[in-house]
Amino acid sequence: ATQSVQAVEHEQTKDLTKVLFTEEEIKTCVNQMGKRISEDYAGKNPLVVGVLTGGYVFMSDLARTITVPHVVDFVKCSSYGSGTESSGKVKFQLETSHSIEGRHVIVVEDIIDTGLTLSNLVAHLSTMGPASIEVASLLDKKARRKVEVKAKYVGLECPDEFVIGYGLDYDGAYRSLPMIGILKPEVYS
Ligand code: 5GP
Ligand code: MG
Ligand code: MG
Repeated sequence: ATQSVQAVEHEQTKDLTKVLFTEEEIKTCVNQMGKRISEDYAGKNPLVVGVLTGGYVFMSDLARTITVPHVVDFVKCSSYGSGTESSGKVKFQLETSHSIEGRHVIVVEDIIDTGLTLSNLVAHLSTMGPASIEVASLLDKKARRKVEVKAKYVGLECPDEFVIGYGLDYDGAYRSLPMIGILKPEVYS
């Protein structure tokens, strides 16, 4: 198989205290999820909606493993400030550019933490008359759930830690790292 991007070594890898999921493990997981989605949505032309900003890397990889016709779109929500704790409030900063009405919607998120973002987002999109709506999340941090989120497609179990890489940031940084890991405590201080 050809690789679209050459393996590179990121300088900021040195800030990790632990790698939770390697590039290879993530790839395997994403491919499996794409296969399931492709089977489940045969003939349905789903609207695949990525949640910016954290979901963009996962969205890009997942969408390219969905082998049935589909349309790609994005929304932007934010619940986090600049720190590592959720503010609890969800802001909708960007709506989809395609109509939701009558569409089979798949919401693609990086991580379910408290569940506040996705429960608000799914409720919001549901008012727009989709034919169906499901959630695909790469990571699931179950320990911190405050509200229930029914995610049909969940990739990897995430420990109760603040993680970065593969789209996930700390104050805007680390999104481009190919792996997912935990930052060294001294990075925060
Ligand atoms: P929730 O609303 O479920 O609490 O979390 C929603 C958003 O918070 C996620 O989409 C993600 O952007 C951010 N988030 C939650 N946990 C983490 C984490 O461990 N690391 C990073 N970088 N972002 C997180
Ligand atoms: Mg997110
Ligand atoms: Mg963030």
